[in-house]
Amino acid sequence: MKKRGQTQQFDKASFKASVKKHLITTYAQNIETASDKHWYLAVGKALAEISTGNLLETEKRVANAQTRSVNYFSLEFLIGRLTGNNLISLGLYEQISDAVAELGLQLTDLLEQERDPALGNGGLGRLAACFMDSLAAQEFPSVGYGLHYQYGLFQQSFIDGHQIELPDAWRAAEGYPWEVQRPELNKFVGLYGDVSTYTDEKGQQHRRWNPAVTLQGIAWDLPIIGYQNQSVFPLRLWECRAPVPFNLAKFNDGDYVGAQQTQIAAGNVTKILYPNDNHDQGKVLRLTQQYFHCACSIADIICRHLKNGHEIKSLSKFEAIQLNDTHPTIAIPELMRVLLDEHKLSWNDAWEIVSNTFAYTNHTLLPEALETWSEALIGELLPRHLEIIFEINHRLMVQVEAKWPGNNEVKRKLSIIAEGKSRMVRMANLCVASTYAVNGVAALHSELVKRDLFPEFDELFPGRLQNVTNGITPRRWLKYCNPQLSALISEKIGTEWPAHLEQLEAISQFANDTKFQQRFAEIKKQNKQRFADWVAENLDIELDTNAIFDVQIKRLHEYKRQHLNLLHILSLYHRLLNDPTFDMHPRVFIFAAKAAPGYALAKDIIYAINKVADKVNNDPRLEGKLKVVFVPDYRVSLAEIIIPAADVSEQISTAGKEASGTGNMKLALNGALTIGTMDGANVEIREEVGDDNIFIFGLLVDDVEKLKAEGYNPHAYYEQDSLLKASIDLLDNNEFDVTDCAAFSNIRHNLLEGGDPYLVLADFADYVNAHNRIDAEYRNQTQWVKKTILNTALVGKFSSDRSIRDYVNNIWKLTALPK
Ligand SMILES: *Cc1c(COP(=O)(O)O)cnc(C)c1O
Repeated sequence: MKKRGQTQQFDKASFKASVKKHLITTYAQNIETASDKHWYLAVGKALAEISTGNLLETEKRVANAQTRSVNYFSLEFLIGRLTGNNLISLGLYEQISDAVAELGLQLTDLLEQERDPALGNGGLGRLAACFMDSLAAQEFPSVGYGLHYQYGLFQQSFIDGHQIELPDAWRAAEGYPWEVQRPELNKFVGLYGDVSTYTDEKGQQHRRWNPAVTLQGIAWDLPIIGYQNQSVFPLRLWECRAPVPFNLAKFNDGDYVGAQQTQIAAGNVTKILYPNDNHDQGKVLRLTQQYFHCACSIADIICRHLKNGHEIKSLSKFEAIQLNDTHPTIAIPELMRVLLDEHKLSWNDAWEIVSNTFAYTNHTLLPEALETWSEALIGELLPRHLEIIFEINHRLMVQVEAKWPGNNEVKRKLSIIAEGKSRMVRMANLCVASTYAVNGVAALHSELVKRDLFPEFDELFPGRLQNVTNGITPRRWLKYCNPQLSALISEKIGTEWPAHLEQLEAISQFANDTKFQQRFAEIKKQNKQRFADWVAENLDIELDTNAIFDVQIKRLHEYKRQHLNLLHILSLYHRLLNDPTFDMHPRVFIFAAKAAPGYALAKDIIYAINKVADKVNNDPRLEGKLKVVFVPDYRVSLAEIIIPAADVSEQISTAGKEASGTGNMKLALNGALTIGTMDGANVEIREEVGDDNIFIFGLLVDDVEKLKAEGYNPHAYYEQDSLLKASIDLLDNNEFDVTDCAAFSNIRHNLLEGGDPYLVLADFADYVNAHNRIDAEYRNQTQWVKKTILNTALVGKFSSDRSIRDYVNNIWKLTALPK
């Protein structure tokens, strides 16, 4: 076998020839007149040739290794732009930069041509992308399974401060250069119809589903390139089309148009990503997407397993399936159906396989995010699956009866079917009952899963509920997005850290080194300038890099409390204008966030921040001390320029509501100091960096529960705290140039008469205090820079490489591919 080197072999002349060939033959462009966009496409295609070869090679090595693989099932993969990152993974960034320069082009200009594939909403989808990167970096056999949405998450713009949503056709008309079709892997998927019983030649009875509709799944592979190890694993995305030839009977009847109807309907299944984050929508088309994803992926895993010469009964020995939230739960009854009805296994044999194959990650405790599907809907769309769900539930109830005889209350709680006017299938219960491991995503969250969400399941299945704290890939979130800081780190501790992030701890020895502090601070300043230039060019707002850059970037959600941040800004505005003794270091508040299109209050908050920004940025009385920038269209490539420029990281969710957060990790790694509640992974970040290097404030989980139980009264806080009162009252003054008055009054109403469900008012005073400490500490630059160095140095734990090792050791039981 050919020996594999650490980094890709590279021949500049043949690479340049390949780029030119693609420019001319793939994209039909002349060398002399081609645009940057076409050059980017041609460079992407030339690089994809290398990765596709390595993908096929890795597939063979996986088959030969005869070990277990993990299949990561997710409805979302928020991968971000691939080209720049893939160059780093291939170890070819400098060489390609040179080669492209010889063609008279600048690599960074070409990279800007790529549109983010935004095939996810936020943290959950980004986590899936970081996990694929870390699986490949450590050469664990793995396949990511997702959907090939025609339109990714909507593009956001603002008109008069209001969010406007536009479709995101992320693939250029020419196609996306990194994706390759795998027609031999295409699948057929049934829907609707009925179920019948038949007797086989041995006299045994079986159930058979007769679907009324058939869809086709087209397989697209994106390469997940291992960091400088030449292994490439697939991210396999299914596109839905009507089977060809389409409805032949109708076609032959002369009903050409009628025959096309199914084609049109099938085209809808993977047309759009649902834009909800942490919210269940319950639409038929969404369940269809989920089933389509699972049916294609399960069929693909079984094909591969049998093709590799294994028996169906050994499936769980070779394949693990991780469910990223409950979105792909229907894969559980689907695998049962295939094993029972197609492979004719007994229930017990099928269940043994299923319950040793699946594991489930819980991402939230928010009731509105816990998926349920109406029994009637599942029965219509997937009649056989509903039967199987009933049987799983029946057997679960037998176990519950054995443990808690006669206890109907606990049966009602654990049942997969929720009784009520219309009966609902609870997907999380189905997951806990059918998987061998369930994990939360940060230590605190996993404790709450046990204590509040599934206490009886924890008793019934001891040890099943576990924790795996989330992580982020250091390749994208430090090496790629912050090249100067990366170079400084490598100069000090060598170049191995991107694959061994715990090594960063060694830079803490330089935290008091004046020379190092100066260089570290200078890099932060240049990153701030890079972002300020971007803002000046794109938003026409001038920023002073001497100001504190205070960043809150994440989906817009009440529980994430962008409106708490807004109230603090209003309090500063009030004090600057009304308190002559008040002094503050200049601050720039930077927001970026998309609101789900149907989430009215979230949109009102965006509007209010935009209106406050307009006023504050142009009010000469403030002497430039306060600026507010809401950057439109938050996405991975925007995070990559904001994060290296951040001084302060806002992680201010109501305690108990943010399962982990990963934005908090990215920002700390790039030397921003966190102002945060004791929630999600903030708790563990504090443990790592130490109390002196983080600004913790606010109610704890237990305080929140106690306050709610006592009967929380936001009016009392409003009346007693004059700064809070003044800040809230600014919401109904004519201080801002507001055309949509309802937006402002809705926020005020939500906080006062609406009962302030996320305790914004209760946390306000302590939040203001924490900000006052930040203001004071930033003025002591030596101390501040020391703290930022220690943040970068001490967050190595939050590498997604470590998360993946936790999954591998505690849940998946994989071995890395032999070299
Ligand atoms: C990391 C990331 C998120 C998650 O941010 P949180 O602060 O953890 O909610 C969301 N969107 C994008 C584009 C990200 O890169």
